[in-house]
Amino acid sequence: MLAYIGLGSNLNNPKEQIKNALIALNEVEDVTVTSLSSLYQSKPIDHSNQPDYLNAVCQVNTHLTALELLRVCQLIEINQHRVREKKWGARTIDLDIILYGKQVVASKELVIPHPEMMNRAFVLIPLKEIEPDLNVPILGPIDKLIERIQDQELIKL
Ligand code: AMP
Repeated sequence: MLAYIGLGSNLNNPKEQIKNALIALNEVEDVTVTSLSSLYQSKPIDHSNQPDYLNAVCQVNTHLTALELLRVCQLIEINQHRVREKKWGARTIDLDIILYGKQVVASKELVIPHPEMMNRAFVLIPLKEIEPDLNVPILGPIDKLIERIQDQELIKL
């Protein structure tokens, strides 16, 4: 199964945090990081007074279920001492499952496609970079989604 994971960090050397999360993902048995976007810099979603974020999206090839992959992501967050005081607050590392093949998941714990992906330039732009012709389940062609978020500031590093 090909899945897409969004990575974000704005604390404790974000570049290193993202690199370490990618290494940790790739070290998991049955998870291989097969593609990686550039790094992008974005403003905090809530415009609060916290550092800018670094973001990237990777593609992984895995036989894990979506829920198993979520557990892997959560473990990596814990291992990197993720600090999170409030929703959308500053964080050392955030891993979100953006897509899991063409599967649609809507459980209490896991929603795929990620419920906020369509609203976030820092997900859509890096995703398009590694998957230019993507047709997102439920949501449609990635180009159409990107048209809606043109006004969001995003710096490609
Ligand atoms: P956050 O880390 O703030 O993005 O949110 C984490 C929570 O979102 C966890 O409790 C997950 O169970 C839930 N969640 C729902 N869908 C997803 C998804 N596609 N990827 C990651 N976490 C998800």
